[in-house]
Amino acid sequence: MHDLTRCVQHPAVSHQGFSSLAVPTYRASTIVYDDPAAFAQRHQRGLDDYIYGLQGTPTTRTLEAQLTALHGGERTVLVPSGQAAVAVTMLAVLKPGDKVLIPDHVYPSVRSLCADYLASRGIAHAVYDPLIGAGIADLIDAGTKLIWMESPGSGTMEVQDVPAIARTAQARGVLTGCDNTWASPLLFKPLAHGVDFAIEALTKYVGGHSDLLLGSITVRDLALRKAINEVLGVLGIGVSPDEAALALRGIETMGVRMAHSGRVARDFAERLQSAAAVARVLHPALPSCPGHEVWTRDFAGSSAVFSIVIKPEFKERIDPALGRLRLFAIGASWGGTHSLIAPMDVAADRTVSPWNAAEGLVRLSIGLEEPGELWQDLSRFLDALAAA
Ligand SMILES: *Cc1c(COP(=O)(O)O)cnc(C)c1O
Repeated sequence: MHDLTRCVQHPAVSHQGFSSLAVPTYRASTIVYDDPAAFAQRHQRGLDDYIYGLQGTPTTRTLEAQLTALHGGERTVLVPSGQAAVAVTMLAVLKPGDKVLIPDHVYPSVRSLCADYLASRGIAHAVYDPLIGAGIADLIDAGTKLIWMESPGSGTMEVQDVPAIARTAQARGVLTGCDNTWASPLLFKPLAHGVDFAIEALTKYVGGHSDLLLGSITVRDLALRKAINEVLGVLGIGVSPDEAALALRGIETMGVRMAHSGRVARDFAERLQSAAAVARVLHPALPSCPGHEVWTRDFAGSSAVFSIVIKPEFKERIDPALGRLRLFAIGASWGGTHSLIAPMDVAADRTVSPWNAAEGLVRLSIGLEEPGELWQDLSRFLDALAAA
């Protein structure tokens, strides 16, 4: 064999006796076939087979299977981000003339998707009070095809009555989807409560290290999975096995990371209630959080993200006070090892459940730093706020 050919042909090595705990990263665009007949018939292969790298490799399939098992679903489809998970689900379900209902606390990019993209393509949306529960029945009309949920809302933390909304939707033949990023399947499993699409921003707790972007959609109904795959196929969307490999590493420690950060977050949330500048703490484990009873009923525990509402008289001081923090970094996309803090303009994003614009809101994501040192850091922020 010529050296140039040798450069291209990888020699086969023995796999005998090699057994690793790590999932190998299989990269591929091309999938090769044994013979021309197999190649000619490749499109007869099913969604669980391998046809072309864009539809997945054993690495991405491993992560999909793991999420399916955690959610108690039938299949999971990976997409490049959490936002893509929402967008692809909506594109798979909604046609011109249809309508989607979204909660007022929804991840802001989802509202933009509905208002700035779907609307001009003949797909309507209506915004509902996240605490509406079974009252959602009054908003369902002949065009309503999908009800979107996000519980708790990742900024203002209202916990939704997912079982009541899913039951009501099901009785009317309407599909439901739930953004489960705050809880992850460890703390809440939407499919077990009748939801059709459970989506996760794997970017957050599964990735866990603020260094990857990935989303997932898990379903029980294979027809819904097929509809999602059709959208991905025509749009040419797939995910990198390298991102999946990072997520496969992250998911191994997700349980201990969330348990630790969740415990510290809950402790901080309780202590923050008595801070001079704090009007109320929005953490699902506290009675001051709207939907707290639903959280107690439905969730297995607490994750690491919560918000504090700052009294109007201290609102102006939030930005300078944030400058006093040394451990908390200012930024979005939480769920990593570093603690984060983010001031949020809630009122701008509200249309049906008004928000007092005079108050400030700051969202915290607790990481893995030593809790005492983190609290000291937070105290610097609180002292700077109250020093007004
Ligand atoms: C971050 C986030 C998303 C979007 O995820 P990306 O991977 O950053 O696109 C969607 N929903 C919620 C609740 C989120 O927190």
